Amino acid sequence: MRIAIPKETHPGENRVPIIPDHAGKLCKMGANVLIESGLGTGAGFTDTEYVEAGATVSQDRNELFSSADLLLRLRKPELDEVALMQRGCIHISYLDPFNEHELVNALKEQGVTAISMEMIPRTTRSQKMDALSSQANLAGYVMVIEAATHLPRIFPMMMTPAGTLKPANVFVIGAGVAGLQAIATAKRLGAKVTAFDTRPVVAEQVQSLGAKFLEIDLGETGETAGGYARELTSEQVAIQRQAQKDVISKSDVVITTAQVFGRKPPVLVTKDMVEGMAPGSVIVDMAAETGGNVEGSVPNEIVEWAGVTIIGKGNLAGEVARDASQMYSSNLYNLVEDNWHEEQHMFAVDFEHDILPGCIITHGGDVVNETIKNILEGGA
Ligand code: NAD
Repeated sequence: MRIAIPKETHPGENRVPIIPDHAGKLCKMGANVLIESGLGTGAGFTDTEYVEAGATVSQDRNELFSSADLLLRLRKPELDEVALMQRGCIHISYLDPFNEHELVNALKEQGVTAISMEMIPRTTRSQKMDALSSQANLAGYVMVIEAATHLPRIFPMMMTPAGTLKPANVFVIGAGVAGLQAIATAKRLGAKVTAFDTRPVVAEQVQSLGAKFLEIDLGETGETAGGYARELTSEQVAIQRQAQKDVISKSDVVITTAQVFGRKPPVLVTKDMVEGMAPGSVIVDMAAETGGNVEGSVPNEIVEWAGVTIIGKGNLAGEVARDASQMYSSNLYNLVEDNWHEEQHMFAVDFEHDILPGCIITHGGDVVNETIKNILEGGA
């Protein structure tokens, strides 16, 4: 089986889908691994390292697409790249299938088996393949470092002959994977941390990191069978906003990570709350790219409102591209390895597999994921 790995072309993307170590492991499994020259440059890996691992290097990007049995990527493909793929080719990457209708249709028409990394179930067994978690973890760390860089204060308490500095107050909204890592990182830097999440099970996790959980009575919230938050009603959002207002006004840093899987993130910090913060305070809106948890945040930009810095940077894990590549590559490798047919030396698309079927969006000329199919047909 020929596994091809083209270079990421999205502006500013330095992460690499497969690092040399995993390329070597794929070769040992019997795959013929072809990489595009310069694949690892953004994360500090040379072509030579891939060649030493057993891969072949190509300068011809089109050849990679047209000759691949399996394409391993980070970001979704471009439409003109899909047109180059062979019928029956397997393509694994982030796909954003809830929003990328034209792309999903193109993959279907081309007869490509498109596997979406976002759709890996969040179960214990699939943790090693869970790229949403590995990248969110790093994003949580990066958000705190960004906030600390822009805040004109330090995070820890400091008692010195020149006086005592109080610790910074950090408020984290949304304590999933990224939020919990943000809490842990801010605590390590010595900040006083408060957090809120709509899933009640999170309270204990927040407290075990040494942070305070803000209690807000929203009535029934719960979570989906997959462990995701349910969307709040507009009344619940109003209660949450009101209850957070006071904490936000006393915070030096607010970090927002609230997401509802497959839906637009809720706006939880409004302009009047931003205006209530002290000048110099910092907000990091992790959801900026997908609609924003914070009014006034701008995707991929750092803006100022009423003296408050609002950071809307996307691709936060990409800021630590070396580690992010290692983790994503490990997720991708584990997915391939878990579905590898040892005798035939190939990735087996097995609809009886316990993890894979839920992640397959298109196969054999059809959209096979029921949720996505419904959305495309206008049913959801
Ligand atoms: P996510 O990115 O979908 O959302 C981030 C957080 O925002 C979630 O904790 C969610 O509850 C919260 N949120 C949603 N609306 C909110 C609101 N109005 N106010 C405050 N917070 C709000 O979540 P995620 O980080 O991808 O994690 C999703 C779930 O999957 C979590 O339960 C996580 O623990 C679980 N998970 C399990 C495993 C595993 O068991 N192997 C692995 C990874 C994640």
